[in-house]
Amino acid sequence: MEMNAAKVLIDGPSELVFDYAIPESLGEVAVGCRVRIPLRNRNSTGTVLEVGPAPQTNFTLRPLHSLIDPEPLITPNLMKLGKWLSEYYGTPMEQVMRALLPESVRQDAHSEKTRKVVVLESMPDEEALEKLKKRAPKQHVILTLVKAAAGQISLADLGGGSVTASVKSLEKKGFVSLKSEAVRRDPDQDQEFMETSPLKLNAEQEVALTEILKEPKEGETKKPILLHGVTGSGKTEVYLQAVQHHVDQGKSALILVPEISLTPQTVQRFKSRFAALQDQVAVLHSHLSQGERFDEWHRIRKGEAKIVIGARSAIFAPLKNLGIIVVDEEHENTYKQETSPRYHGRDIAVLRAHLESCCIVLGSATPSLETYQNTLKGKYTLLNMTQRVDNQTMPIIRVMDMKIEAQKQKGRLAILSDKLRVSMEAKLKEGEQVILFLNRRGFARALQCPPCGHVCECQHCAIPLTYHRGDERLICHMCGYQTITPNKCPACGDKAIKLQGYGTEKVEEVIRKVFPQSRIARIDTDTMRRKNALRDTLAKFKAKKIDIIIGTQMIAKGLHFPNVTLVGILNADLGLHVPDFRAGERTFQLITQVAGRAGRGELEGEVVIQTFTPHSPSIQFARHHDYVGYAEQELQFRGQFGYPPFTHVAMLGTRSTHERRAEFTLQNLHKRLKANLPAQIEMGEPMPSPLTKAHGQYRYQLMLKSNSARGLSQYVARVLKQTPPPEDVIVVFDMDAMSFF
Ligand SMILES: [Zn+2]
Ligand SMILES: [Zn+2]
Repeated sequence: MEMNAAKVLIDGPSELVFDYAIPESLGEVAVGCRVRIPLRNRNSTGTVLEVGPAPQTNFTLRPLHSLIDPEPLITPNLMKLGKWLSEYYGTPMEQVMRALLPESVRQDAHSEKTRKVVVLESMPDEEALEKLKKRAPKQHVILTLVKAAAGQISLADLGGGSVTASVKSLEKKGFVSLKSEAVRRDPDQDQEFMETSPLKLNAEQEVALTEILKEPKEGETKKPILLHGVTGSGKTEVYLQAVQHHVDQGKSALILVPEISLTPQTVQRFKSRFAALQDQVAVLHSHLSQGERFDEWHRIRKGEAKIVIGARSAIFAPLKNLGIIVVDEEHENTYKQETSPRYHGRDIAVLRAHLESCCIVLGSATPSLETYQNTLKGKYTLLNMTQRVDNQTMPIIRVMDMKIEAQKQKGRLAILSDKLRVSMEAKLKEGEQVILFLNRRGFARALQCPPCGHVCECQHCAIPLTYHRGDERLICHMCGYQTITPNKCPACGDKAIKLQGYGTEKVEEVIRKVFPQSRIARIDTDTMRRKNALRDTLAKFKAKKIDIIIGTQMIAKGLHFPNVTLVGILNADLGLHVPDFRAGERTFQLITQVAGRAGRGELEGEVVIQTFTPHSPSIQFARHHDYVGYAEQELQFRGQFGYPPFTHVAMLGTRSTHERRAEFTLQNLHKRLKANLPAQIEMGEPMPSPLTKAHGQYRYQLMLKSNSARGLSQYVARVLKQTPPPEDVIVVFDMDAMSFF
C-alpha cells in the first residue's frame, strides 16, 4: 500500500514546510490538524497544509510524532480562505496561519481551565453513617454537603486543600470520587444583560428584512447585499431580526463591527437581544486574555457558541453551519489589518460567505465606493432605507465659509465662526448638548491659502502635495512629483499661504474662554489613555453631566445621544486635503456620520460645517444628504485618474532606524521591480512617507497600481523573495492599501 504523507508548516518565524510520513497508528490525519513533529534533533509543532501520496524521493520521510488535537482545528473552508488570502495579498502561508489560528489556540501550553469536583458515588447505610459521624466527623460533614448539593460540589466550595485528605478517604471507601471539570473563563461574567424583544419594523425595514431572508433559487448562490440606510434608519434592528431567523433554524451567525471598544452600544444591543441564549453568544475582541480567547475560540469550534460578534479578526472564527454574516459599517477603515497579513475584513467576509454558501449583509449609511460600484455592476444587491425610524428628521446642515470668518477675525486663528458660536449659546441655554468635531490627521500637512482657499495639488494625481520640513519641498505621495514650497499663493498671489491646522487642545482652550460656564470634555488619544476613560466620559455625557464634547474620530461612530442637538465640524479641510485619493470619500463619510449624531431624539438636530473650501463636492453632497450624487461624481474622478475601485493600488514600504538604509533598500527594490515590470503594472518613484519617521524608524514608500491584484502581489512577492532586505530594514507590502502614511 502506498504511504500517505503530510506537508507540515512548522511553527516559528522561518515558515519552513516539510513532508512527514503519516504512521498508520495515528489514524486519519486531515488538513488543518495540529501535529507534533521531529525537526532536526529536537521536537517541534506545526500545522498540516496538505495530505497526499508520499513524494518520490531518495530520503525516507520521518514520521509525525502525534496529533495535538484529534480533529483539524481549521475547517476546510477556512483553509481555502487562507490559501486565497495568501495569494491575493502576497503573504506567506505561515503568516496567514497566524491569523487563522490565534496564538492562544496555537500554543501547546494553553489549555482548558479545570477545577476539581467531588461527585457522590454511593451513600452509606444508616448504620455506617452513624459510625462515620462519630469516628470521622469531618468526612461525615463532607458527605452531607455533597448530597445536599445534588451529588456534586467543587472541592473549592468544600474548603479546598484543608479537606483533601478527608475526601481522599471517602474516595477510598467508594462513597465519592474526585474528578476534573472544565470551567469557562467568561469575559462578561460580571455583566448582566436584560433581554429585549424585537421592535416593530417600518415599511422600509420590513422590505429589507424580507429580501435578506429570501432563499436563493435552486442551484444559485445568493448575491451579497448592501444595506444602504441613512443614519438612524434602524439597520441594527434589521440585523438583529435576520440573525434571529437564522439562529431559529439552527444556523450560526457572525457579526463584524469596526472596533469593539468604539461600538459598545451595538455589542450591547446584540447581547441584550440574545440574553436568553447568553451562553451561545461569543464576543471576540483584543482585550480578551489568552485564556479567555482560548475558551471562546473552542466554544465556537464545538458549536456551543452560535452567535459571534467581533472586530475584523473574528472573520476567521471557526463557526460551522453559517447562516448569515453581517458587516456593520462596512466602509470603515479599521476592517483593514495594518500588520501582516494585511487583509481587508470586509472583502474576506464576502469570500467566506461565498465559500460557506451563506447570506452576507454589508451595512452602512455611507457605503465604500468599492462596495457601491459592485451594486452598479450587478454583483451585489442594493437595498435602501431612506427614512429615520420614529419619524425623526435628518439634521439641517449649514456650511460656513471660513475665508470670510478669517477676514472678519483679522488674522487671528479662526476656530469658531459667529454662526456656530451663536447656535451653541442657544442650545446650551436650552440645556441641550453639543459635540465639536476636529478631524485631525495631524502629521500630513498641506499648504492652504486662507484668503482664497487654494490648496497646492499634484497635477498628475489630483491629491494635495505634502510639505516636508528640512528642505522645504512639496512632494506628491502617489507619483513622486516634487516642487519647492511657494512663498505666495499660486492662485491669488497672496503671501498669507500657510500650513493648515490646529489641534483639539487649542480648540479646548478657545471654547473654555468663550463658554466659561459650560462643562467641557475633550476626547482624543491623548486624553483617553486610561482604561475605560472613553466609556466613563460617554456615560457622563449621557447623564448630562457634560455639556460640550470636543473630539476626534473617536466620537464619530455609532453613538446615540438623544439630547445632542448641535454638531460642529470645526475644520473640514483637515481631512479633505491629505495626500490620499480617498480623502474626499472619507470626508463625505465623516461629515455624514458625525452629522448623524445630531437629532437622534425628539429634538431637531443641526450641524455646522466650517471650511475654507465650501464648494468641495464631499461637503456639498454631504450637506444635502445625497450619497448617490456624491458617489457618481467621485466614481467619475476615480475612473479618470485610474484609482480604485477601477484599479488596485498597493504600497511597498521600507522601515529602518537608519534612514539611508531604508531609502537605499527601496531604491534597490524599485530597480529590480522595474527590470521586468509587466505591462499591466504601473509604478511610482521611491520617496519618504508623509509620516517620515514613526516609532524611531524612517519610512520610505512607493506606489503600485494594476488591474489585477493577484498578478501584482505575485510579481512583488517573487521579487521580494529574490531580494532579501538587509537585517535592519523591514519591508512592508500592502495590497489594496487604505492608508498611505
Ligand atoms: Zn502626483
Ligand atoms: Zn490664494
